[in-house]
Amino acid sequence: MNNKKKDIRALTKAQLREFFVGEGDKAFRGNQVYEWLWSKGAHTFDDMTNISKDTRQKLQEHFVINHIKVDRMQKSEDGTIKNAVRLHDGLIVESVLIPAKNRTTACVSSQVGCSLDCRFCATAKLKRMRNLNPDEIYDQVVAIDNESRLYHNRPLSNIVFMGMGEPLMNYNNVLKAIDKITSPEGLGMSPKRIVVSTSGVPKMIKKMADEEVKFKLAVSLHSAIDEVRTSIMPFNATFPLTDLREALEYWYAKTKNRITYEYVVWDGINDKRKDVEALIKFCKFAPSKVNLIEYNPIDDGEFQQAHSSAINMYVDMLEANNITVTVRRSRGKDIDAACGQLANKS
Ligand code: SAH
Repeated sequence: MNNKKKDIRALTKAQLREFFVGEGDKAFRGNQVYEWLWSKGAHTFDDMTNISKDTRQKLQEHFVINHIKVDRMQKSEDGTIKNAVRLHDGLIVESVLIPAKNRTTACVSSQVGCSLDCRFCATAKLKRMRNLNPDEIYDQVVAIDNESRLYHNRPLSNIVFMGMGEPLMNYNNVLKAIDKITSPEGLGMSPKRIVVSTSGVPKMIKKMADEEVKFKLAVSLHSAIDEVRTSIMPFNATFPLTDLREALEYWYAKTKNRITYEYVVWDGINDKRKDVEALIKFCKFAPSKVNLIEYNPIDDGEFQQAHSSAINMYVDMLEANNITVTVRRSRGKDIDAACGQLANKS
């Protein structure tokens, strides 16, 4: 019986209005319920206090509200919080709250597991189980917004799609979630405060450009040499750098939004002069900046962070070529909440 009921949050506002009209009620009732489901974040029909008891009963007969549940919250010494989030079917994803001086960032997941096979990433060791629904992505953001207000006395200010999964392999749902996050009927956040991070799926980058999305794009580059990139990110064999480059040029031409390249420097893998030279060349194709991220070791010890001299070489050479570069420290390492460490260990 229960599993015949539909997830009410899979309905658009128009569909909800139609439902009420079909039940002989006013279309406006659909707006009220929609507001409860999204901007007011109701977890049960009984939360909807301005809806009559009979109507709530009717909703109960037809629908369920599949809300996520924060199963476990861990706090790092540096204030980072990691949520293990249970989905309606029992699967778990993780999301992270990263506090900084003037901002709070939510790092959210887009898939259970991941479609890709980056060899340095803990999430890649998990099989991709399924894509997250728009509401499951939205709920992670709401949970972190609440935690930010509770523990840091301020609302969430930024969102990065850098949790588990490859957002562009769950494109439609990620875009629907962002629509809700940015709409006044949802959280009303500015799309400029949202970053979608991808390993680089050329076709989808072009599609995003065509749809003139307003959020920012980050690409996990890690190497601008095909041979090296394929050895650490095997899917690069299918989506080689020339295709990626072409898609990024297209992205910039359409959106005029510069691209951030995420980049880890590993000992013996991409720590030579020729690696930096290739990166500099790649950065010239479209306006971009480079974020050098610290490597967070995952258990097998195969990869090691490069020596600081190699990092300094990257910074010096990039700057000498007028490319903006930042060196980002890891957050939440002690609770396995840093980049690439999300793997449901608990
Ligand atoms: N699939 C998307 C988003 C998830 S990964 C993407 O690839 O961009 C978020 C970032 O963490 C990516 O830049 C990824 O390359 C990086 N990352 C993965 N494993 C890491 C690790 N062990 N240490 C540091 N960064 C890592």
